[in-house]
Amino acid sequence: MNMSSEESPILILQALRKEGYLNLLLFGPYEIVMEEIFEESVKEVASTVGLKSEEISILEDADRAAEELLASEFERYVTRKYNPEIKEVLVKYNLLGAPIAREYGGRGARQIVESLMLERLGQVGLGVITLVDVHQCLGSLAVQEWGSEEQKKKYLPKAASGEILFAYGLTEPEAGSDPASLKTTYRKEGDGYRIKGSKYLISNGSVATHMIVFARSSDSGQISSFIVNTSEKGFSVEIRLEEKVGLFTSDTSMISLEDVFVPKEDMLHVEGKGMAVAYSALLNGRIGIGSGCLGVMEDCLKQAKERARNRVQHGKEIGKHQLIQRHIATIASNLEACRWLVYRAAMKKEEYDRNRSDVRLRAQADRLSAIAKYMASTLAFDSADRAMQVFGGFGYSILSPVAKHFLDTRVARIYEGTDEIMQLKIASLELGKDFEAYR
Ligand SMILES: Cc1cc2nc3c(=O)[nH]c(=O)nc-3n(C[C@H](O)[C@H](O)[C@H](O)COP(=O)(O)OP(=O)(O)OC[C@H]3O[C@@H](n4cnc5c(N)ncnc54)[C@H](O)[C@@H]3O)c2cc1C
Repeated sequence: MNMSSEESPILILQALRKEGYLNLLLFGPYEIVMEEIFEESVKEVASTVGLKSEEISILEDADRAAEELLASEFERYVTRKYNPEIKEVLVKYNLLGAPIAREYGGRGARQIVESLMLERLGQVGLGVITLVDVHQCLGSLAVQEWGSEEQKKKYLPKAASGEILFAYGLTEPEAGSDPASLKTTYRKEGDGYRIKGSKYLISNGSVATHMIVFARSSDSGQISSFIVNTSEKGFSVEIRLEEKVGLFTSDTSMISLEDVFVPKEDMLHVEGKGMAVAYSALLNGRIGIGSGCLGVMEDCLKQAKERARNRVQHGKEIGKHQLIQRHIATIASNLEACRWLVYRAAMKKEEYDRNRSDVRLRAQADRLSAIAKYMASTLAFDSADRAMQVFGGFGYSILSPVAKHFLDTRVARIYEGTDEIMQLKIASLELGKDFEAYR
């Protein structure tokens, strides 16, 4: 849609309506009935940014999927097991391929819609978010943004239907915050390449059908990216990392690649440009994690309010004690401080998606996604801690709904860029390249 600011508001609104956007304030009445806090988010975005009816229907599906996942997710968390229902329920509601373009079998959700979807799923917990974020933001979108037409046709419809589940293999035992020091190598052989090395702390690692793998050429030393079929000979799960602090419902594994063959047509993007793929996937992923953390804060707020209204101590509901009110006020403020920060990062990413050659827009999207991820993960963890405090001794039981967020959310300050790396990134984007504290 192309409209100059001189056009009258009525014309602009008519154009919006013609294109199927719903401006709820003026055009209502599209009856949106969803989980209460999420409904507010959807209405606010619809009335400010504009959402099409098919976009709202993605969010209605996310609302239903989140509701349906609650029981299995909690049960699996208590029993410390991977939750296979996450993928099943997302397939059932046709959400696994939400951000994949329609022409490749997805629902074409732009970033703000993807963010809202993850916000709702984040209420259930970061276990759900980890599976979805890795599959969609680090996997499917990497193929969509960097893949050849053949790769998109081959992989994306199956990634949307659930026949394919992606993992993302960047981290290694000796290369975490400094991924460019990775040691996994590849060499040319016949019609393809052989990859050899280890990938550590890989989400979806033992359940994925395909993994985006980053490896260094044994000849030139340059890093390239590949779409690796996990059923290929030489690909094995070395250990399922189950002794985690939380995030039990998400699979985390260590992967061994012993001369795994990749046909040449499955190199992703051009040779030597693997880190460009890795970093752009992380840009998407960080907005995803920030969005999921909004959902965590929403659930913490909801649970803490309910407890504060019902638990009586010293002759009155604890919510009438001012120090408990301080926790409620802080969680609510954490959420509001991050909500539009995440949406703004999402909208900047959309702007960049429309102008992929604009390096200035790319830097802005990078900066905002780092800030959104850094703030939302820090404040979601703080919110979970405060909700646990409101719950008192029961909050410390793994059976309380808020302890799960406390245990699960801590990782958001570590994966896809630690707090420290996010701060260094933000600072160097502020100060300029000469001030980069790391390479
Ligand atoms: C549950 C879980 C799931 C994960 N899923 C995936 C996945 O799917 N795919 C994948 O590739 N990776 C994944 N990771 C890996 C994750 O991205 C890394 O753990 C993270 O990037 C940090 O790397 P590291 O653990 O090696 O820590 P290190 O890099 O060793 O960092 C240790 C500490 O040093 C700090 N530090 C490092 N360098 C600097 C610096 N220059 N200045 C200041 N401080 C610094 C860090 O911030 C951190 O506090 C996952 C991790 C976890 C825990």
